[in-house]
Formats: sequence, structure tokens, C-alpha cells
Amino acid sequence: MNDTDNNNNIKCLRCGTDMVEANFETYMCSQPIVKRTRKGILSAPVQSGVNCLVCRKCGYIELRAAEPHKLKFRTE
Ligand SMILES: [Zn+2]
Repeated sequence: MNDTDNNNNIKCLRCGTDMVEANFETYMCSQPIVKRTRKGILSAPVQSGVNCLVCRKCGYIELRAAEPHKLKFRTE
């Protein structure tokens, strides 16, 4: 991901500046994920990648699931 301003002009919750996408890297430089698990034989874990937005003015960081529709269990 680079500095493409393709986030529909999401404003910083802190200072109101347009936020930009950035990579949110872990120590090993693997992409973080959000994952939901629950017990039960029909409950396969569901997960999504994570998008990171950062405010270029104040540094506020916002994380969002890249594909929130994938975080639904089959029976939900
Ligand atoms: Zn800001």
C-alpha cells in the first residue's frame, strides 16, 4: 500500500485532517489480521486482513477490518 488517498476522505477523529493509508507492520513484518473463533463443530474460524489509516497531522492511527463481511460466522 502506498500514499494513494483512496480511503474516501476519512477524517481524523482527533483533529479532522484527511487520513491516509499506511502499513501497520508487526515485528516480523507480517500483516495483522482480525480473527473470530468460537466453539462448535460447525464454527470454522473467520478472519479478515486489517487496513490501517494514519493521520499525517497528529499521528492518530485507526485500524479497520479490510473485509468485515468475512467476519460473519456461517450461522450468524
Ligand atoms: Zn489527526
